[in-house]
This record gives sequence, C-alpha cells and structure tokens, in this order.
Amino acid sequence: MGTVGAKDVPVLMSPDGLRIDGRREDEIRPIRIVAGALRQADGSAFVEWGHNKVMAAVYGPREVHPRHLQENHKAIVQCRYNMAAFSVDERKRPGLDRRSQEISKVIGEAFESVVFAEEFPRTSIDVYIEVLQANAGTRCAGLVAASVALADAGIPMVDLLPAVAVGKVAGEIVLDLKKEEDNYGEADLPMALVPQSGRLVLLQMEGHLTREELAKALDLGVQGCREVHAKMKEALRTRYAEGDGGAA
Ligand code: UDP
Repeated sequence: MGTVGAKDVPVLMSPDGLRIDGRREDEIRPIRIVAGALRQADGSAFVEWGHNKVMAAVYGPREVHPRHLQENHKAIVQCRYNMAAFSVDERKRPGLDRRSQEISKVIGEAFESVVFAEEFPRTSIDVYIEVLQANAGTRCAGLVAASVALADAGIPMVDLLPAVAVGKVAGEIVLDLKKEEDNYGEADLPMALVPQSGRLVLLQMEGHLTREELAKALDLGVQGCREVHAKMKEALRTRYAEGDGGAA
C-alpha cells in the first residue's frame, strides 16, 4: 500500500480512480456464502466477504429467555453480534461492549421488520453472529450471514435481507468500504433493505455527506444490495440442491 506524509495515511484513491485494493468505486469485495455451515444450529451460514469471516447461527422459534421478554401475540427476535478477541489486529477485549450491543440491536430490529413473528407467539428466534475476522463492514456481513441462516432455519420472512456499506473516500462515493477506507475515509453508511420493495430496514451513518452525496450513496447501496441478494439466493439454492449432504 502506498503512503504519504508523516502520519502514514494510505493513498486511498489512485489518479486513475482505483481504490486501495484496485477496485472501482462501484465494486464489491469478493463474497462467498455457505448456507448450512453448522450441524447443531437450526439454521446457519458462513460468509467470507473480502477479509471478513463471519459465522451466523439461528435457533428457534423456541422458549423465551429471559421469560419476562415473552410477547403473547408474536415471536421476538434476539440477536447477539460478537467480535472474537482474535478477529482484529489489536486483540479485542472479549465480551459485549457498547458497539456490539448497538449492532445487535439494529440487526435484531431489521429482522423483526421482515420475520412473520405473529405466526409464533410467545417464542424467541435467537440469532448469533460471530465475527472471526474483521476488515470493515462486519455488521453487513453479519446481517447477510444471519439472514441466510434464518432462511436455512425455515423461518418465514418477507424476503432475505441483503446489506452493504457505502461511503465517501478521498472525495468519491464508493461501495463496500474496506478497513483503510473505513478508518481514513470521510463517511461510512451501512444499509440493509428488502429487495422487492426497496424498503430500508437498517441505515446508519458516520461522517458527513451532502444531500447530493447521500442520494448517490443510497443509489449505489441499493445496487450493491441487489448484487449481494443474488449471492444469498445462490447460496441457499446450492444448499438445497445438495440436500443435507451439503452441510458441515
Ligand atoms: N474494529 C477493530 N476493533 C474494534 C471494532 C472495530 O479493529 O473493537 C475494526 C474492524 O475491522 C471493523 C472496523 O473496525 O470491521 C469497522 O468497524 P465499525 O464499527 O465501523 O463496524 P463495521 O464496519 O465492522 O460494521
């Protein structure tokens, strides 16, 4: 990676418009999705997305713990996003910090808006996301893994939920930020949507964008989500074409 200046800030955009890893502004890092990657869970998926590696497992609908969270007319979706201590360059302190709690909450809420929860009153659908290796965009990779895992578990939903982050790097609106772009870029905007309707079910933003840049970022994000959606469907098709023999 090229660097400039005393502070070792990497060159994020080459003069001919190539990003730090050679991608154009509208290109996603390579994605590999394996549906049904675990034997013990009701549903599972493993996602490799650039240098991110994320496992998701789904259990349920099952009894609610803790009991007082139970809802009489619908299922609740409980999500736990966790980053392994070894997932990042500098060892992360194990356990749920504020960031993990926030990500668990926004992902859980995204799924609550697409799962047919009324079909399973007084139950919980438990979603576990374990980030094994992180390189920016882990909440999106986690959401994608969990969405495929929910489908693998046979949970009825409006649709799969593709997700991707868009952002602003070296003055350009770009798709799917990697670590250096996330660290040194001007804005990071993770999003997830329902493909059929285009309804956004997760949208967060760090940094600053003008109104025009935001509109452009959202368009690019929608395009990226459609690409990710195709890969999610393909993973499920592969899994069910192979039958149980395809599982871990
Ligand atoms: N990160 C890290 N340590 C942490 C949290 C994050 O090194 O405790 C890195 C990790 O690579 C992560 C990236 O910073 O993917 C961006 O984190 P952010 O909070 O923006 O969430 P993400 O982009 O992973 O959804």
